[in-house]
Order: sequence, then C-alpha cells, then structure tokens
Amino acid sequence: MKKIILGLGAFGSVACYTVLPTIFIRTFSKRIVKTTSQNGLLLTFDDGPNPQYTPLLLDLLKTYKINAVFFVVAKKALQHPELIRRMQAEGHVIGIHHYTHQSSFFMTPAMQIKQLFKSKQILESITNEHVSLYRPPWGHFNAATLKNANNFQIMMWTSIFGDWKVQTCKTSLLQQLHQARCDGAIYVLHDCGQTFGADQDAPAHMLQTLHHFLEQAMQEGQAFTNPHDWKRQYVHS
Ligand SMILES: [Zn+2]
Repeated sequence: MKKIILGLGAFGSVACYTVLPTIFIRTFSKRIVKTTSQNGLLLTFDDGPNPQYTPLLLDLLKTYKINAVFFVVAKKALQHPELIRRMQAEGHVIGIHHYTHQSSFFMTPAMQIKQLFKSKQILESITNEHVSLYRPPWGHFNAATLKNANNFQIMMWTSIFGDWKVQTCKTSLLQQLHQARCDGAIYVLHDCGQTFGADQDAPAHMLQTLHHFLEQAMQEGQAFTNPHDWKRQYVHS
C-alpha cells in the first residue's frame, strides 16, 4: 500500500511539472501565440537546418516569394551557419527550438535556461540580430518554462500535420494543408527528419507535397503572412 501511495505521489509530482503545465499553458496562457490574427497563412519550419533539405526548401520558398519562420536547433545552426545566414538574407525569421532537440519535460529549470540562452547567443552571433521567437520541441512545457522564457515570444501553431512520416506525406498531407487554410493560420512543417520518431527522408516527401500545395494555393489567390510584418505589430522586443 505504501509503495502504491509513493508511486502515485511520484507520478503526481512528475505530472505537475510536465503534462499539466503543458495542457494549461497551451489552453489558457496569453503569453503564447497560436494565431497571427492577420490575413493569410504563416509557414513555419522546425528541426533544421539540414544541409540536404533546407536549401531545397529555401529554393522553393524563393520561387513563390514566401517568407517563413524557421525554428532551428542551435547545435545544428552552429554546424551550418551558412544556412542560417541564407535564411536571414532571403527574408525569413529565425527562432529558437532549443540547443539540442530535447523535450522540456526532461529538463530542470537550470537546464532549460541554458538551452534557451545558449541558443540565443549562437543565433545572434551568426545573424547579428536580436532573436526573440521560441518554440519548445514537441510543444512541451514544464512548470518553469514561462518564467524561463519571459524574454521570448513563444509561438505555437494552428495546424500540425504529421509530415515527419513519409506515409502521411504521401497520403494525406496535401489534403490537410488545403483543409487547414484560414486567415491567421500558423502551419508547422519539418525540414529535417533526424528527430526521434521521424522518418529520415520524410522532408523529401514534404517538399514535394508543399510544392504542389503552393502551386495550387497561389493559383487560388491564397495570401501568405510575412513574419516580419507580424513581428513588427505583435512582438515587442
Ligand atoms: Zn521539433
């Protein structure tokens, strides 16, 4: 009996630090952005930069004259600073997706502060620009995240599609991208397949589908939100 009570106590403590804050913050917090409140769609890409897929994505975005937000893993940014500079030069906005792609569930407050500020320092030294956007990997928060990220604007999403799986890209991604179209929408896609649970070559299929989507959406007059315009209006930093 004592073991069961201790077990329940431990489970409760873990839940109070991880899952419950995540549900609460994502449902109620005014500190996170879940829509741009602007006309059009905002495209965001997580988990890069990746030397194989990110350049192809940048080429595609350039073709359609669309600017996006890249939530990058700072350790990978250190390995490929030229890709970060290219994003910046082509008008994209760069945000933080931790130094390594780790869930906040498994971080003490001190570890999370280190992940955030090390990433900020790396990205600012590459870009010579203030970096203020943050998206925690897997959308996981812990009880200390809001306090730790007090100086950052946290951006979540309206639509996430499972594009880290090849099968999803091949079967339902195109339809999902069309169905989720609405003003203020924030889309999450992934330009790297090396994250735990992802298929390595999923970005190749995502890119193919995104190309089809952009071609069709543009023909139908779909507007895309420029992240710099949104930032100027909504992010005070
Ligand atoms: Zn991620």
